[in-house]
Amino acid sequence: MHINKAIPDAIVSSYLGGQWYAPDDGATAIKSAVTGEVIAHAGHNACDADLILNYAKKVGGPELRSLTFHDRAKLLKHLALYLSEHTAALTELAFHSGATRSDSKIDIDGGIATLFVFASKGRREMPDETIFPDGDMEQLSRKGTFVGQHVYTSRPGVAVHINAFNFPVWGMLEKLAPTILSGMPAIIKPATATSYITEACFRLIVDSGILPPGSVQLIAGRTHTLTDHLTPQDVVTFTGSAQTAGIIRNSLNVSDLTIPFTAEQDSLNATLLGSDIEPDTVDFEIFVNEVVKEMTTKAGQKCTAIRRIMAPPAISRHLIEAINAKLADLTIGDPSLDSTDMGALVSDRQRNDVLAVSQQIEKHAANVSHPKITETLRDLPGAYLCPILYWCEDPDHASDIHQLEAFGPVATVMPYRNMTHAFELLNRGQGSLVASIVTHDPELAREAVLHSAPWHGRLYFNNHLSSAEATGHGSPMPHMVHGGPGRAGGGEELGGVRAVKHYMQRTALQGPPDLLQP
Ligand code: NAP
Repeated sequence: MHINKAIPDAIVSSYLGGQWYAPDDGATAIKSAVTGEVIAHAGHNACDADLILNYAKKVGGPELRSLTFHDRAKLLKHLALYLSEHTAALTELAFHSGATRSDSKIDIDGGIATLFVFASKGRREMPDETIFPDGDMEQLSRKGTFVGQHVYTSRPGVAVHINAFNFPVWGMLEKLAPTILSGMPAIIKPATATSYITEACFRLIVDSGILPPGSVQLIAGRTHTLTDHLTPQDVVTFTGSAQTAGIIRNSLNVSDLTIPFTAEQDSLNATLLGSDIEPDTVDFEIFVNEVVKEMTTKAGQKCTAIRRIMAPPAISRHLIEAINAKLADLTIGDPSLDSTDMGALVSDRQRNDVLAVSQQIEKHAANVSHPKITETLRDLPGAYLCPILYWCEDPDHASDIHQLEAFGPVATVMPYRNMTHAFELLNRGQGSLVASIVTHDPELAREAVLHSAPWHGRLYFNNHLSSAEATGHGSPMPHMVHGGPGRAGGGEELGGVRAVKHYMQRTALQGPPDLLQP
């Protein structure tokens, strides 16, 4: 093991009401995914909701709302530049979560890039103002003395962001950017398992002094009764499992007061090899590479990772061999080594969860993983897991394949009879974040959009003409919406300025034109 075992500050503090609070005896111990040793503690016995909400609403909100959209966009740019200078330390820390250097690039650099995009969009696509007009003025009367105009204004509440463990930095920053731009303060609650990475990044944000006081707070550990104290001007966003989303969604306070609640939850994302693609072509190779990348990046712990792989039956066996050949070539192990392709899962618990779900999948599918792959991990401590590839011959009668998310390096290949069948299978995840298709056939692409777009937050097409510049099946882009219907949570994030509007109220203004001029 080359990983630096010691984390200098092994306590994960909360930042509330402008002060840091060390964990108390209500804290949870966090283990390194790589060494299995306890490396940090996070959490408190209770959460002082009044302190947190007052600081956000009485200090942070007014400070942010006194700035124009352009001013706020400039803050995001300064923050992005500042954080860019500190990525190395965050990457070192993230090795303990099992993340390789390239995994952390997606999380840390990806989060900073999202800040830059929102900074730029805020200045280019929003006015240097505090009211954001929506559409043109509508003439509501014959002589034009009475008109209508839709506007967005900042909510005088707070946004509570509850994040998953897999993107400790991106998860925080991708939500923070539109929140700050909207003029709303934020309370960030990272997943405990990787909260030491989020806390380190958050500490940089506080130390930079760039954001106004009160605009950001951090809760390490549980939120306790915080959501019971929220009011209708607040917003709750959640990223994580469907189960936890259900608990929060159904919590009385959120539903009774219709507090906006956005959920990004688990998803059985799929990829489809178009019927026009022949084996051993460049396009076939692109498909195989994308599957392998999605199974192994962040050890498959990505909400957008490919879980279901659809191919024509005649080439399915060839496809399995091609995927296995690439997987067998990968180096799995110490994430801090540059030679490592795939690191560990975040914890033993996560690995056990993945193995338990895999056993369920095995009732409907044959394990066709390459035997060489399992050899490599025999002597390693830590939460390592080899990629597992399944073959499901009869995907029509295997509902678990389309329902169970093994949140790790696990995927299932299945055959489709024709394109109608392929689209049916694609949609059987009951709503997903993303589905990808490798094809050159515009008619196939159009049919896919018509049949499958309503079931997926994102449809991603690729072939050899686009692959050199393609952004990747699993990468949500700040410019494009991220989220999905049904099973995926029904939420929507990112998508440029669309995301900012989720934190603002749209109001229809009606009256004489001179009163409604922007
Ligand atoms: P999780 O167990 O549901 O936890 C998510 C977050 O909710 C954590 O911060 C957790 O805190 C918190 N939490 C748990 N119970 C809570 C409660 N009663 N009230 C308030 N907060 C509560 O999910 P996870 O294991 O971290 O993440 C993995 C899952 O997230 C996977 O299913 C994956 O598909 C999904 N995911 C989805 C997306 C997306 O964009 N759609 C992105 C990433 C991950 P603690 O850690 O302290 O328990």
